[in-house]
Amino acid sequence: MNIFHKKKELNLWVEEAKKQGDQIGFVPTMGALHQGHLNLVAAALDQNHKVVCSIFVNPIQFNNPEDLKKYPRTLEQDLAMLESAGCHAVFCPTEEEIYPSPVAHEYDFGIMDKVLEGQFRPGHFNGVAIVVKRLFDIVKPHRAYFGQKDFQQLQIIRRLVAMEKIPVEVVACPTARESDGLAMSSRNRRLTPEQRLEAPRIYQILLEARKRHGQQPADEISKWVEQQINRSPLMQLEYFAIVAADTLLPAANPAEGQKVVACIAVHLDQVRLIDNLFFN
Ligand code: AMP
Repeated sequence: MNIFHKKKELNLWVEEAKKQGDQIGFVPTMGALHQGHLNLVAAALDQNHKVVCSIFVNPIQFNNPEDLKKYPRTLEQDLAMLESAGCHAVFCPTEEEIYPSPVAHEYDFGIMDKVLEGQFRPGHFNGVAIVVKRLFDIVKPHRAYFGQKDFQQLQIIRRLVAMEKIPVEVVACPTARESDGLAMSSRNRRLTPEQRLEAPRIYQILLEARKRHGQQPADEISKWVEQQINRSPLMQLEYFAIVAADTLLPAANPAEGQKVVACIAVHLDQVRLIDNLFFN
């Protein structure tokens, strides 16, 4: 497995592979890898000749400096996991390599980056879009793989690719879960044993909410979810919303055939977890 720190070196390697006729699959990550990331790598290996993974904790997408400081960094372990997964190249740039000068770019995503996560993490998706655009420019992949776990991010990336006319196919991969249903996340390792036992309730509540969908109005379901989450002394609901998958707007009366997704964010003390579930 090739490990690159400089964009120039990675770029040359990709160019060489493309000259041989290879299709390139790309998996951008912030490291602290788990099975969810490895599933993206496996999907990329299935559909491409060569797979590039990036590991870069992107400072400009963190609106909370404490969250950035505490973000788990496990590079040695990540590289070992990627090597045994069969990944061909890893890009681990420094901050200076990605941001040689201060960034002041603003993408216009309309309401898409103002709702859900956007209400609580101002500037977050702009930071995500900037780094993904830069990584796409460096790697120039044929396909890029993103998890449904970060559903709003996935939709923003799709919008970015359309807006900037980036010649890449965005491939969405299903959310990988622990056996008790908790969505895998690098942040899970910050949970105390007690919190870890409680956290799978988030998914159980989403499943129960889905059963209620179609039988109860959305605002009643939302109230019920809030009660269920906040009943636990270890959890606090930040938001729950049932939205149209394509627009991320509230889907109180979804049109025939419109895909509806429920998105949730929950605090367990300092750890903030997100999850989502398609309701139809
Ligand atoms: P991150 O390293 O958390 O920024 O995530 C890198 C990529 O992995 C993103 O496309 C995420 O959506 C995806 N990802 C993270 N957790 C999961 C999961 N549990 N299942 C599927 N994809 C995931």
